[in-house]
Amino acid sequence: MSLRPTLDFLLYHWLDAESLNQRARFADHSRETFDAVFDTCERIAREKYAPFNRTVDTQEPHFDGEKVILPQATHDAQKAYAASGMLSAAQDYEVGGMQLPYTVEAAANAFFAMASVSIGSGLLTTGNANLLMVHGTELQKEVFAKNEFSGRFSGTMCLSEPQAGSSLSDVTTRAVPDGEGFEADPLGARYRLKGNKMWISAGEHELTDNIIHLVLAKIPGPDGKLIAGTRGISLFIVPKKMVNTKGELTGVRNDVALAGLNHKLGWRGTTNTLLNFGEGKYPVDGQAGAVGYLVGKPHEGLRCMFHMMNEARIGVGTAATMLGMAGYYASLDYAKNRPQGRPVGVGGKDASQPQIRIIEHADVKRMLLAQKAYCEGALALELYCARLVDENHTAEAQAADDARLLLEVLTPIAKSWPSEWCLEANSLAIQVHGGYGYTRDFPVEQYWRDNRLNMIHEGTHGIQAMDLLGRKVLMEGGRGLQLLAARINATIEKAIQRPELAVHANALGKALQHVGSATKAAWATGEPGEALANAVPYMQAFGHTVLAWLWLDVALASLSLAPDAPHAGRMGAMRYFYHYELPKIDAWLKVVESRDLTCAELPEEAF
Ligand SMILES: Cc1cc2nc3c(=O)[nH]c(=O)nc-3n(C[C@H](O)[C@H](O)[C@H](O)COP(=O)(O)OP(=O)(O)OC[C@H]3O[C@@H](n4cnc5c(N)ncnc54)[C@H](O)[C@@H]3O)c2cc1C
Repeated sequence: MSLRPTLDFLLYHWLDAESLNQRARFADHSRETFDAVFDTCERIAREKYAPFNRTVDTQEPHFDGEKVILPQATHDAQKAYAASGMLSAAQDYEVGGMQLPYTVEAAANAFFAMASVSIGSGLLTTGNANLLMVHGTELQKEVFAKNEFSGRFSGTMCLSEPQAGSSLSDVTTRAVPDGEGFEADPLGARYRLKGNKMWISAGEHELTDNIIHLVLAKIPGPDGKLIAGTRGISLFIVPKKMVNTKGELTGVRNDVALAGLNHKLGWRGTTNTLLNFGEGKYPVDGQAGAVGYLVGKPHEGLRCMFHMMNEARIGVGTAATMLGMAGYYASLDYAKNRPQGRPVGVGGKDASQPQIRIIEHADVKRMLLAQKAYCEGALALELYCARLVDENHTAEAQAADDARLLLEVLTPIAKSWPSEWCLEANSLAIQVHGGYGYTRDFPVEQYWRDNRLNMIHEGTHGIQAMDLLGRKVLMEGGRGLQLLAARINATIEKAIQRPELAVHANALGKALQHVGSATKAAWATGEPGEALANAVPYMQAFGHTVLAWLWLDVALASLSLAPDAPHAGRMGAMRYFYHYELPKIDAWLKVVESRDLTCAELPEEAF
């Protein structure tokens, strides 16, 4: 199975990605240049990523007392990815980028996520450097961001702490001015940081010359106390090794020490670390405290970080989607080859007949079609959101603003829906394999383990759900929800005119109304404790409605093509979604609209 035809259909036929070339920023591009990027990424993923997916799982990163050791394959993959230019794919030509639409960048990265999600941590480096290109000073861009784009340095995001995960307002890493004249350092106002950062991906390794940590920390007030809440949080560049204004290593190690590696369920190709900042293991100028350079203004650290959240969350959603897709392809292949059982007929089974392949059993087909509907639907969702990022950056003012607001509403879905349902796809892929799926002789158990992370990081499932119902659907007087409803209704109007789609268009209309009325009912008392008690079922219903819309829209696009096997597959997956999945939303919304407090009110002792 190849991903390429599915991607080509969604990108070119459904989303009309080629028309982005009409924008001045992308004027040099054409379908040929996009295809050339996909060819390169597909090849690198096939040669440098896929063959080593199991290697990075079994040869976990380990610390030899001095260095973190990773398999050679990880070094090779990292180099090949950097050489492809993907680290700066969307950046301006002047900084060495390819000025590609984000839609194309996101699609190209799908090949790597499917081949080996954890061998490369390029998205972190790109995200880190992109943030600096927006919020950094000219010298910070030159010294840090550009060296990350070239692959010489790599980047991390240091938000979480052992006691502060979902609640970032409780971070306690402190940053104090580094002596007199601290503001005059050409690399940025210079501070000394002390604190512990937990769960930091790619926090220690020898893959690059240097590691550029972006660290959230609090600058104490005049009374020496940390300011409560997120207001007090600032953002700092903390390089593992000190550099001069030319980006050269000075030979001095910064005071950032590896306290330990976390041993994970999956995603093992990427190191995950507990880092101690400023404990004095590597004093700089004879003093304990990690040197950090302020990015942006003091106390605006979270705002800077949030700048890149949409893309980071599309990245997580795409990773979840592609892990699901990898499982789907593996189980489809298995189901076509595994003989087991005989057809059930009116006269029972005829044991004298040869066995059939399991793909011929209706229940196995059900499991395959569920995976296809989840994963191809999720890919459509991610590409749609990526396209909104491009609209936001390059469309006319009104369209750009609409795209911004739609993205606000859709981002929790883009992150969470594939994390839940493409994980379910991975579970079904194991089921299709029977006992063999439960062993390490087949790849599907690893896909499930790798995918299990996605409901946890970048905002847990529960936190995303509260963001959706508590903030996103309410913001700007509910205009985001109205914009989304308008787009869904536009699809319904077209679909209702097609006999093969009309019944589904009606079902989608009802689902949309139900989501709208449940949103109001959830907030009827204006009591957040009641409204948000069932935020996750709300997000599930919202997500399923969005996916039903996208499937209907995809089906409409498909109807204009020849009725070949891929078309039949798309129509089958769309019908599966409407028959087996969309009806679930009524149960989810029932507890939302009645503000059911069964869970919220059960006293702790009763558990
Ligand atoms: C493999 C891996 C890689 C990671 N990489 C990074 C990284 O590179 N950089 C980084 O900064 N962090 C990273 N993280 C951290 C990740 O973002 C956190 O694990 C996540 O934010 C959750 O924080 P926590 O683990 O402390 O869980 P907690 O916040 O303690 O949450 C535990 C449970 O309680 C729920 N919960 C918490 N608060 C609430 C609330 N107010 N209302 C309802 N439910 C709530 C959560 O939804 C969750 O189910 C990574 C984590 C992992 C596992």
